Amino acid sequence: MAEQALIPPLGYPVRLTDYDPEYAGSMSKEEAAERTEEYKARIAQRQEVLYAQGKYSLLVIFQAMDAAGKDSAIRHVFSGVNPQGIRVANFKAPAAHELAHDFLWRVHAQVPPRGMIGVFNRSHYEDVLIVRVNQLVPEDVWRKRYDHINAFERLLHDSGTHILKFYLHISKDEQKKQLQERLNDPSKHWKFSIGDLPVRQQWDEYMRAYEDVFARCSTLYAPWHIVPANKRWYRTYVIAKTIAEALDAMPLRYPEPEPGLDQVVIAD
Ligand code: ATP
Ligand code: MG
Repeated sequence: MAEQALIPPLGYPVRLTDYDPEYAGSMSKEEAAERTEEYKARIAQRQEVLYAQGKYSLLVIFQAMDAAGKDSAIRHVFSGVNPQGIRVANFKAPAAHELAHDFLWRVHAQVPPRGMIGVFNRSHYEDVLIVRVNQLVPEDVWRKRYDHINAFERLLHDSGTHILKFYLHISKDEQKKQLQERLNDPSKHWKFSIGDLPVRQQWDEYMRAYEDVFARCSTLYAPWHIVPANKRWYRTYVIAKTIAEALDAMPLRYPEPEPGLDQVVIAD
């Protein structure tokens, strides 16, 4: 199969059926695992410089259907990074005090400060996904949110935050397999929520909502990556590679040392 684009063409309609969740190119599992380790090491090195320099931050957003593997992707890709330089934020259904504000209020508060990597496990995109599919707010409210989101991400970008957005693309069959595994394994029961089953019934509506997200909110400064995710080893490889290359392209360098360091003699 030909190379599959990761980033949908900007400003055009997106059809998720054009993206194969099984895709793994010509990569073998062993090769992917080896390269993933190299990229992880690279991410760890660059994170140290990002932190030392304290000028830029990196925001990595993950969205997916249930059981697509967001948690395991985050765990794998960042396992080499100094925990002091990274923070993961999980976005659940908003509490009453959060709903009393605009939808981006709680999100803005979790954006990584200069020097840090921030990871969003779900994000402000829920406000045009579950909120849209379940009609939690009227259409004229959620429709305006695509523009709000683009303006918000532009602000972050202009303030030194590099943004990467990953959609873990699994098939409906793969979700069934993963949910069944959670049911079969008592140590995974805590991850199983009967409330996820109605969401599965709304699969096609979610796909349409995601397609609109990619068509409207993939930008040069904050592109969406549609990651084939049925094969977990390929998914992890793609994410690690994309993050490592993004960090490489950022103008990161260690800060200038204090003047006079070369004269310093440490007393006995
Ligand atoms: P897992 O995949 O392991 O189950 P999860 O991310 O689904 O993890 P949960 O606590 O099961 O974690 O689910 C969080 C829920 O909160 C999701 O159903 C999500 O759609 C919902 N949610 C997140 N943000 C919003 C929002 N702004 N409005 C309404 N619901 C939201
Ligand atoms: Mg869940």
